[in-house]
Amino acid sequence: MSSLRTAHCASCNAAGLPVAEGNGQLLQVACSRCGKVNDVLPFPALFNPATGKPPSLTDDPPGEGESACFYSPQRKATKECSHCGVLVSDAWAAAWGSKTVCLKCLEHLRSDAKNVDFQSKRLLWDNIILTLAILPILFYPALVITAPAALILGFWHWNSPRSLIPRTRIRLIIGMVIALLQIAAIGFLIYFLATR
Ligand SMILES: [Zn+2]
Ligand SMILES: [Zn+2]
Repeated sequence: MSSLRTAHCASCNAAGLPVAEGNGQLLQVACSRCGKVNDVLPFPALFNPATGKPPSLTDDPPGEGESACFYSPQRKATKECSHCGVLVSDAWAAAWGSKTVCLKCLEHLRSDAKNVDFQSKRLLWDNIILTLAILPILFYPALVITAPAALILGFWHWNSPRSLIPRTRIRLIIGMVIALLQIAAIGFLIYFLATR
């Protein structure tokens, strides 16, 4: 059976790039719209309708005294959503950080930018503070303003969520130490000029 499958062009996103069945090697397919040659690696599942579908979930009915999944009642509940509290089966549960949430809540919380635990983007204050401490050295009269600003921001954001991946305070601390040294240098300069 030789069925023809298609792919999207990686360069211009045009649909309909013909993909031939391969033996696990990289195919070179030119895009008819933009002319770019795409490297395509077709997996066997693309041409096998049986493996092309996700496996269907086996029923796992709740036993006597066990709770049923809120979304698939024919499956037994194994997890509790830490956000809305419904009991769900593994198929309907997702781990987010250290929490377990149901898929409905996951979708809802990911679109809620105000929820710190579920942000998909986060401002990296430590990078901002470190940049604020280092960059103005090139325009050193600005240090009178930027050094105290970096230090204040450092204290202000000491407990702010740092990053979606685990990250230490090291950048924040380095930025604050540099700012402190700059303030000391400014103080020394003022003292030196005043007592001359
Ligand atoms: Zn293209
Ligand atoms: Zn939930």
